[in-house]
This record gives sequence, structure tokens and C-alpha cells, in this order.
Amino acid sequence: MQILTASLSEIAQAVRSRKVSAREVVLAHLAQIEKCNPRLNAFITINHAAEKQALELDERIAKGLEAGPLAGVPVAIKDQICTRGIKTTAASKMLHNFIPPYSATLVEKLEQAGAVIIGKTNQDEFAMGSSTETSAYGLARNPWNSDYVPGGSSGGSAVAVAGGMSPAAIGTDTGGSIRQPASFCGIVGIKPTYGRVSRYGVIAFASSLDQAGPMTRTVLDAAIVLENISGLDAKDSTSANQHVPAWSRSLNKSLKGLRVGLPKEYFATELGSETRKVIEGAIDILRLSGAELTEISLPLTQMAVPVYYLVATSEASSNLARYDGVRYGYRANFSEMPAEDLAEFYCRSRGEAFGVEVKRRIILGTYALSSGYYEDYYKKASQVRRLLRDQYVEAFKKCDVLLGPVTTTPAFKIGCKSTDPVEMYLNDIYTTSANLTGIPGISIPGGFAANGMPIGVQILGGHFQEQLLFNVGAVLEEALSLKEFPNVL
Ligand code: GLN
Repeated sequence: MQILTASLSEIAQAVRSRKVSAREVVLAHLAQIEKCNPRLNAFITINHAAEKQALELDERIAKGLEAGPLAGVPVAIKDQICTRGIKTTAASKMLHNFIPPYSATLVEKLEQAGAVIIGKTNQDEFAMGSSTETSAYGLARNPWNSDYVPGGSSGGSAVAVAGGMSPAAIGTDTGGSIRQPASFCGIVGIKPTYGRVSRYGVIAFASSLDQAGPMTRTVLDAAIVLENISGLDAKDSTSANQHVPAWSRSLNKSLKGLRVGLPKEYFATELGSETRKVIEGAIDILRLSGAELTEISLPLTQMAVPVYYLVATSEASSNLARYDGVRYGYRANFSEMPAEDLAEFYCRSRGEAFGVEVKRRIILGTYALSSGYYEDYYKKASQVRRLLRDQYVEAFKKCDVLLGPVTTTPAFKIGCKSTDPVEMYLNDIYTTSANLTGIPGISIPGGFAANGMPIGVQILGGHFQEQLLFNVGAVLEEALSLKEFPNVL
């Protein structure tokens, strides 16, 4: 078995049947991290206890004990997610020395299933960004061409998987941060229905939008990871009391009669020609597979970005208030110049620890929530959000899934959007609707641009319809049969 290119399901099977040891699997990935990370900067922290954990697993298997569906599978975790005993920074100086005393529920579930946490991945600071350029620990690079961004905010997770440093990773998606980097790096990424995966231990950015999910090389692997991290959690009152199906075992590749909607707002003039071509290729495959395609209209889609940037920044300004240098987070050094008052104490600590993008969002969100402006901004945005949700729910009465692009263009060059926030925010025009409405969305590798950069296809479904996304994804994956790897592998 080629360990670094093997799928998660192949690895777990080989480890369980002792064709390969969990230790060998972990060591191979640690070696790849050592080789690639200095250039690609996918990881902020490497879990040096991983080898020992793999050894313990091998001993269990040798004794004939149950090893779990993810036996020996290395999983990389976005640094936005708490891991007990392993530094968790959210890519911010604010949390530079935070070692959580507990793990997120999803991390505990992964470990119970036999996975080994291989490390913590780079990201945009507090998950705010689309390129992993706002990390306080340096930018990450795209393994297909290191002059390009890997996308964001879960860029490090995408780089880890695409670059063979981990067969699976977990990202978080508040406005597209799993799907967009998956698309830019040529892997599979799914944002589950809001509430599917517990947010307990996931550092909050915008609580009504945040959702964690898998990033993998295959659709089957994404289904396996998701079914192992989903479910109701008493520690998260917004987690959903919904049955978690065995998606990986119910993959149905017959799309006969499946109603696929093509929202015309997702194909407007801003969609780049190379991306359009890839999406049209996917449409042809679905048509040939017996799906029924219809054009539909979701006019409020054009409001998604402005609504998102009001709701997300408002929630962020509230969530990030806790980092004050007293209860949580970085505290400035006051030994030489003491603070005059509490306000100065906060200002200096927060001013030194938060990056430019985080500050911009706190200011914007505070403004949108302040009295006198609340009605005009936050409240209006919430009302439009509700209408947007109604529009999508209505669409899923006529269609089973929607198909469209993830972004207007493939990955862009490092630095080319980092000085223009609005240009950067426009990356999210096709992804934020899923977060605002709570529906699931998946990005599937769809092809390549002329410059060799990957392009993803997005499939959206109704609430809790993840099975349909996996089914359509598996059909595209099989028909396209893209077998290229970046040359770091
Ligand atoms: N790019 C979006 C933003 O900057 C989405 C981030 C995310 O999903 N975490 O907010």
C-alpha cells in the first residue's frame, strides 16, 4: 500500500487486518510533514504524542480488541478546534500559549473511533478570511503551486490532505471555509447541516453559522468521517436531535430521476469561464446519469454576502469580547508602563494580540449592533436572512439538490487580494447562503484550470440531506476519475 496516497478507508482496513501498523502509518505522515511543512506551512503544531498513541492502538489490535472504524487513521485538526493538552491558537497571537484542558466533542469522537490526531492546522486568524493569509503564524501555500493561496479559512487542513500529510482533516465553515479551500486544493470538503456536528470545543467565530466538517481525498472518506463526528451532544444546545445515518454504507450511485436545480444566480457574469466549463462538465455527467436538470431562480442569493458580513461580524464582535487579557487570552506587558485605567488595559492587550482583519470585523460588528444602527443593519440583515432561508427551503420542494460553482475562479496568487477586503469577501458569493440558511454543501474536485490549479463543484441539499450530496459526489468522482496529485507527493 502507498501509505501517503491511500484513502482513509484503505488505511483503516489495512491497520485493522495488521497489513500495516498504525505506527508505520503515523510515521510516514510525520515524515511527509517534516518534508513539506517548512515550505507549505500547513501545520501550526505537530502532535508529537501521535507515534505513542499509534503504538497503543497497535497493541490493542494485537490483543484482538476492537480498534474502531478509523483505526490508525491520522486526522489533522484545524487550530480553531480545542484539543486537550495540544496548543490551540485559532492562528491568533491572542491564544499563542493556550493549551485546552478539554477536547472538542468531535475530537473525542474521532479518538474513540480509533483516529490519531496528527497535528493542528494553519488557518486564517479566528477563521476570518479566504486565503489563510491572516494567520499570525505565517501564510500557508497551495501544494499544486506554492505561489498560490490554498484558500481559507481552513487552508492548512486542505494543504495537509492535498499534500499527503494527512488522509483526512477537520475544518470549520462559517461562510465557506471548508468548501472553498477544498475546491482550491482539489479535495472533497463538506459543510454539514447546521447542528449536525457539535460545536462544543470549537472556538466560536459566528455561532449561528459555524459548523465543522471533514476534508478528505474521496467522497467515501468524507462520509466515513462525518458519520463518526455527527450527533446530538448535551454540551451543545444547538446540536440536532437527528438520527445519524450510515452514509458510507448507503451510497447510491443511481441518480435516475434525481431533480437537480441549477440556480441561475450562480451562473451570472462574474463566474469565470474556466470554472463555468468545469461546472458544465459536471452537469453533463449528471444528465447522462439520468438526473433531471432544471434551471431555478434564487434572487436573494445576491444579498448573501452583505447579509453574511453583517451577521458574522456582529456575532464575532460579541464572541471575541471574552478575550480581554483578564479572563482569557494575551495580556500586554504592563511592568514598565502600567495602564492608566481598565480601558487602556483592554486596548493594549487586544490591540497587540488581534490582527488587522479581526480588528476590522470587531469594529464592523460592534457598529452594526450599536444602538441607533441595530435596526438598520443587524436587524435588517436578520430579516433578509430569514427570507433567504425561505427561498432555499422552497427550492428544495422542487429540487433534490442544487448544483453550482464553489467560487468564481480557481485559487489566486498569494498577495493579490490581501489589501482589498471587499475583493476578498466576494470569494464567498456562492458559499455563504448555505451557512445563512443552515443547509449542507459539499465541494467535489471537478477539474483543472489551464494553469494546473484545481476547480471544485458545489452540491447543496436540503436540511439533513447529506446522503444526497454524497451520492451525487460519488457519481461525479467516479465519472471524472481525476487521479492527479500535486508533485509534493
Ligand atoms: N471567507 C469567509 C470569511 O472570511 C468565511 C470564513 C469561514 O467560513 N470561516 O468570513
